[in-house]
Amino acid sequence: MSDFDFNGKVVLVTGSSRGIGAEMIKAFGKCGAACVVNYVADSEGRNEADAESVAKELKNPLVIECDVTKSEQVEAMMKQIQDRHGGLDILVNNSGIIRDRTIKKMSMDEFESVVRVNLTGTFTVTQKAATILRSGGRIVNLSSVSGQMGLFGQANYSSSKAGIIALTKVSARELSRQNITVNAIAPGFIDVGMSKGMPDEVTQNFIKQIPLGRLGNVNEIVSAALFLASPMASYITGQVLNVNGGFYMG
Ligand code: NDP
Repeated sequence: MSDFDFNGKVVLVTGSSRGIGAEMIKAFGKCGAACVVNYVADSEGRNEADAESVAKELKNPLVIECDVTKSEQVEAMMKQIQDRHGGLDILVNNSGIIRDRTIKKMSMDEFESVVRVNLTGTFTVTQKAATILRSGGRIVNLSSVSGQMGLFGQANYSSSKAGIIALTKVSARELSRQNITVNAIAPGFIDVGMSKGMPDEVTQNFIKQIPLGRLGNVNEIVSAALFLASPMASYITGQVLNVNGGFYMG
């Protein structure tokens, strides 16, 4: 990680209160970036507490409550970043939810809520961030192997993650005018966050189908994000980086 120097850069990782996002923002912080932690409020205040504990490991962090599905909240988040730092250099669209069910049983709300957070949220944050992203800026979107293969029980999630791939390509074309690159990471099954909720039997069954024979470590996703945000990736845009142990080879 010492190869990456993000001093002088401002980074926002959406959904950085826990899981992959939390590890990402901490890694950017260790590499010298000014960090913005984002969480969405819940009635028990648990997410805020999670975000605050992530922030404790960062130097002068900005912690912002913002639901990525609420356009006015996203706009206010960008204004806060602009006021504090004068702009943004790196955006990681990481927020995401899962609500698995077969198509036969899936309600409209289960379908739409997942698309709303994962895909519409990524669109909204990209749109609002574009007004404060500086030249040379980077956007990294979190897609998933599920969006490339279509996984059983994930009509909502797979569709949202496939949509993120298309959105990444459109964003890459349009934002190139501002000298901003846009890429996606498509993780396989990772050892933190939402994959942890899978029954052990399901996990073991997936592991059998992964050429490298194991789940991914969160640091392997973090490294991909640091790379895509770094000067080493300056001529890469509109791409999907598969980090999945060979589970899907696109
Ligand atoms: P987690 O469930 O651990 O974390 C999700 C994060 O998203 C939380 O910080 C949560 O905030 C935030 N979030 C949820 N809804 C909103 C919202 N409306 N507005 C703002 N933030 C929101 O998930 P992971 O860390 O596992 O996943 C991170 C990303 O990686 C997701 O996009 C996921 O689809 C993708 N991914 C994960 C894989 C895995 O194996 N873990 C595999 C493939 C892709 P809060 O804590 O405040 O609720």
